[in-house]
Formats: sequence, structure tokens, C-alpha cells
Amino acid sequence: MPHVDCVDCGDEFWREDDEWWKKRCYDCWLESKGEISRRPSKNELTDLRADNLDLRKQLECLRQIKDDLANLFQYSGFLIFACHPDRVPGKEKVAHEVLVWLNAKREQFRQVR
Ligand SMILES: [Zn+2]
Repeated sequence: MPHVDCVDCGDEFWREDDEWWKKRCYDCWLESKGEISRRPSKNELTDLRADNLDLRKQLECLRQIKDDLANLFQYSGFLIFACHPDRVPGKEKVAHEVLVWLNAKREQFRQVR
């Protein structure tokens, strides 16, 4: 029976069959010796859960951006055609900027795809 419950915190921990004398998990044992355990405090757990939630939201956002980039790549040929400065009289400067940006994004996407 290698898994037993800690007498202090109740968490399950693993011990060898011949380690019957181990009654505490490693963190409780450290704390019983006046040492600082690796166990996160409740504030740390709350912060870690908030960070985890925030990172999951950011990951979902990045997945959406990746999908958008895939769509942009799919339509990049037409967009480059449509934004050519010769096709937008009076707006050649911005058309050129968009064209440069589209070409750069298309090349960037080709490299990470
Ligand atoms: Zn414990």
C-alpha cells in the first residue's frame, strides 16, 4: 500500500512499503521541522488560478488570431491584387503601406505554417 493519507493535511502521499514510519507528506514534514514547504499558500493558489484563467483566455484569443491569419493568407492574393496602388487612385500611399504589410504578413505566415 504505497499511497497513504498524511496525518496533518489529509493529502495522499506515496511511500515505500518499508517506510511505515512516514506519517506526513513531504510538505507537512518540512513544516513540522520548521522549514518552508513548497506548498503554495491559499493566496498563491488564488493567484495561480486567476493566471491560469487569464492565460486560457489569451490562448483562445491567439487561436482566433491564428485562424484569422489563415484566412488572411487564403485571401492574400486577392487582397494584394485589390490593394495595388494603381487600383486606388488618390490613395496610393496608404495602398502601398497596406501592400507592404500584406506581403510581410503573408511571408511571416508561410514561415510559421
Ligand atoms: Zn500533509
